[in-house]
Amino acid sequence: MTAHIRPDLATIPAYVPGRDHPGATKLASNETTFGPLPAAAKAIAEAAELANRYPDNHAVELRTALAAFLGVPVERVAAGCGSVALCQELVQITCSSPADEVVFAWRSFEAYPIVTQVGNATAVPVPLTPELTHDLDSMAAAVTEHTRLIFVCNPNNPTGTAHGRAALERFLDAIPARVLVVLDEAYFEYLRLTPQDHPNGVEIARDRPNVVVLRTFSKAYGLAGLRVGYAVGDPAVITALMKVHIPFSVNRVAQAAAIASLEARPELLDRTGALIAERDRVRDALVTAGYPVPPSEANFVWLALGEHNVAFSEAAAEAGVLVRPYGGDGVRVTTGDPHENDRFLRFATDPAVKARFAA
Ligand SMILES: *Cc1c(COP(=O)(O)O)cnc(C)c1O
Repeated sequence: MTAHIRPDLATIPAYVPGRDHPGATKLASNETTFGPLPAAAKAIAEAAELANRYPDNHAVELRTALAAFLGVPVERVAAGCGSVALCQELVQITCSSPADEVVFAWRSFEAYPIVTQVGNATAVPVPLTPELTHDLDSMAAAVTEHTRLIFVCNPNNPTGTAHGRAALERFLDAIPARVLVVLDEAYFEYLRLTPQDHPNGVEIARDRPNVVVLRTFSKAYGLAGLRVGYAVGDPAVITALMKVHIPFSVNRVAQAAAIASLEARPELLDRTGALIAERDRVRDALVTAGYPVPPSEANFVWLALGEHNVAFSEAAAEAGVLVRPYGGDGVRVTTGDPHENDRFLRFATDPAVKARFAA
């Protein structure tokens, strides 16, 4: 007989590895197509030579570098094993009973409901607006005396939509100070809203102790395989995060690569500029072809295909392009290299495909 396992875990889907498609173009995971810069590769190799030694559990050098870059004291910065680990840790530091509620938009990052359930708290999903943005008024209205945590994914994964600073500040003004609000900025580097309305969570959180910002080295910095993200917020929140942190989970190689990548930031962010041009080119072509695609502020676009999402994704896979279907809602397509995007667009704008899926 097998050991007792928490019965509620049965409702969390077990991981099913994706089918292997040799030679396929992978536009399904919002990864950067470039390998690490030479400086990062060198830091990785050097750190690997010390693999017999534990990493710095407090990631002091990395956090100090981040603090200098962000213009905040180091006490305001925590590192995590990817920002997804920090999402889970944020539930752990705020929720302690199934009565505790975590509010998030839906559809949004698929980790939010999972980390909420794993943390034994209750998820309160709030539908997106018809424009596929966070419905901030409804999210504020969903706050009860039981609300402990709110995730705001800006730009939103998987729809790519973003709110500007004014809308976020109005929302935050409506939230009680006892509720922790997470601004998940995994795609911050791809935002191109006007400077006056640019939503920089680190600035927004400066004088709001109940706001914490998450960023990651996985997307624009191209280190998804090494797992390092960070949180910026009130020192009391950061101290609590460090208490629940799985010891040594931000490994030595990840810390070294993140520091080197931060130093090489200008070069990495140049790539980001080129990617944004590609993203907009892909969206324009899809809109011209008749697909419903909201403006994106991230490194992907969203095709609001509703129930046709699975059929579209399967047809794309047959054409050699892997995209990401989301049950009942749509398909997310990561922006890759120009030739990869062309391959996808050849598929999506093919007359037979358009006839099936575009309006
Ligand atoms: C990719 C992503 C993350 C984090 O990724 P890590 O690799 O764990 O740092 C966090 N939030 C959102 C919304 C994401 O899309």
